[in-house]
Amino acid sequence: MMLLEWVRRTDGEAPVLVNSWYRDPAYNAAVGGVSHSMHLTLGAADIVKVGWSPADVADLLGHAPHKHMLGIGRYKSFTHIDIRGMIGRPAPARWGSNE
Ligand SMILES: [Zn+2]
Repeated sequence: MMLLEWVRRTDGEAPVLVNSWYRDPAYNAAVGGVSHSMHLTLGAADIVKVGWSPADVADLLGHAPHKHMLGIGRYKSFTHIDIRGMIGRPAPARWGSNE
């Protein structure tokens, strides 16, 4: 995803680890994913930028190209990013608090 490359390069280059990309429906259910999860559509990733806090990655994504098309979820140990607006779903979406 070009967005992940943007995250990797912006504000100091650092590797971006993708924790979760595509989930098949059975795996999605097993990990407690919601049934309409963006992870079922190949349009989502849970990411960590090495050396960055999830909060800082979420803040960075708030300034990303096409940010109005994105879903950004803040979690304690990673940041969720998806391109919901590019596949016709309501966007943007923001949730979570990194707590
Ligand atoms: Zn996610």
